[in-house]
Amino acid sequence: MQKVALIGYRGMVGSVLVERMISENDFSGIEPFFASTSQAGEKGPDIGMEVPPVADALDIDFLSGMDIILTCQGSDYTKKVYPALRKNGWKGYWIDAASALRMNDDSVIVLDPVNRPVIDKALQRGVLDFIGGNCTVSLMLMAIGALFRKGYIEWMTSMTYQAASGSGAKNMRELVAQMAGIGHNAETMLSDPAAGILALDRNVLETMKSDAFETGQFGAPLAGSLLPWIDAKMENGQTKEEWKGFAETNKILAAEPPIPIDGICVRIGAMRCHSQAMTIKLTKDIPVDEIEDLIQSANEWVRIVQNTKEDSLKSLTPAAVTGTLEIPVGRIRKLNMGNHYLGVFTVGDQLLWGAAEPVRRMLGILKNR
Ligand code: NAP
Repeated sequence: MQKVALIGYRGMVGSVLVERMISENDFSGIEPFFASTSQAGEKGPDIGMEVPPVADALDIDFLSGMDIILTCQGSDYTKKVYPALRKNGWKGYWIDAASALRMNDDSVIVLDPVNRPVIDKALQRGVLDFIGGNCTVSLMLMAIGALFRKGYIEWMTSMTYQAASGSGAKNMRELVAQMAGIGHNAETMLSDPAAGILALDRNVLETMKSDAFETGQFGAPLAGSLLPWIDAKMENGQTKEEWKGFAETNKILAAEPPIPIDGICVRIGAMRCHSQAMTIKLTKDIPVDEIEDLIQSANEWVRIVQNTKEDSLKSLTPAAVTGTLEIPVGRIRKLNMGNHYLGVFTVGDQLLWGAAEPVRRMLGILKNR
């Protein structure tokens, strides 16, 4: 049986991963080990079978004994441990949710419903590093990967509406704390239907601007507002999150020549579902029903939502999608710019298809080889 070390299992992505592995019975047929940078020697998580005590995730000798290492610990950990392990001669498979190794020439970004042939070819030529993609990119490709595969996309913009969870657990807590602060201060006015709306509005703004309002994680109010900047600045004025849209999409698809992709990434007050509005320049005039059939047939999770108010509000929102693997795609229509221009909106749980699911499935691919 393959020895598999799971690192980062206590974190947000790691917890979702372990939950998914239990529900898909992924622990059968492997010998699992859990490792942590802070909990070595403690009891491992309850996965319905005996597991050894938690190992030290920085112990290179322990890690060198593994056939597969799956880490959701983060890039700092990867940068520290991965080079030392390979230098030590370790030839096992490294599966990683963090971005550190994503753009390396000898790594593959995994999203098997979209790029299984790229993964299979990489395995045949001996690639050992399989890295989960950026959440927004993975969710976008789960939704409209079929249009890319058919060569129907000349260029694309993606304007995103990204959830707090993309920044981590502390940020999710801060969003809720901000909401609670606003609600608490407005309570008296809210319970009085006669209270003036402008007074209520002023009250909310005062709360958001007060020193007591928690903004330590995001650096600005998110509840009642939005943040049009995610991650570091790139030299060309993009943010790193926006840069990933082009770089990672083309790497996942092994697209040659690369397809132009750009957009603006925006943080909104959703908990764990990212949404995005795409403007697509088609390579030819394709009827909307044909586009819908193509999108629908791409994988078992994607689902066309009819372009009506009722269907969009029922099925095309973070609240409807959170905690599920569904990838609804809606608001599909030709834009005023002409028949080659398509508008599309999609939503997905960024902790599932955006983070844990692609790496979980990569482990499954290795297990079943
Ligand atoms: P996280 O929740 O901050 O967890 C990372 C590590 O923090 C844990 O494995 C744990 O390591 C440690 N930790 C310290 N105190 C903890 C506590 N009270 N509860 C739980 N863990 C605690 O990180 P994450 O959001 O899962 O992200 C992990 C990696 O996945 C990052 O590289 C991130 O970029 C990537 N990723 C994240 C997302 C996302 O949506 N968040 C999406 C795609 C990829 P020890 O056991 O060693 O102490």
